[in-house]
Amino acid sequence: MKTMTCKQLGGACNMEFSANTFEEMAELSKSHGIVMFQKGDAPHLKAMKEMQDLMQSPNGMQNWFENKRKEFASLPDNTL
Ligand SMILES: [Zn+2]
Repeated sequence: MKTMTCKQLGGACNMEFSANTFEEMAELSKSHGIVMFQKGDAPHLKAMKEMQDLMQSPNGMQNWFENKRKEFASLPDNTL
């Protein structure tokens, strides 16, 4: 398992997510984002707006995803 925070994944808080794959991690972050969005949490809404801006550029989202995937890959595996 690897651990990343909401902030590391483009969010706004220090909540930690643990997953075995980056896809799993992205899903956890996404579900958390939806909950925060429904709560109307201002810092998360701001972070989401920034993500939406990023998606406006042709390769913005793809590049972001690739960077995060590399970041995930470079993290130490904490399954002990
Ligand atoms: Zn968060």
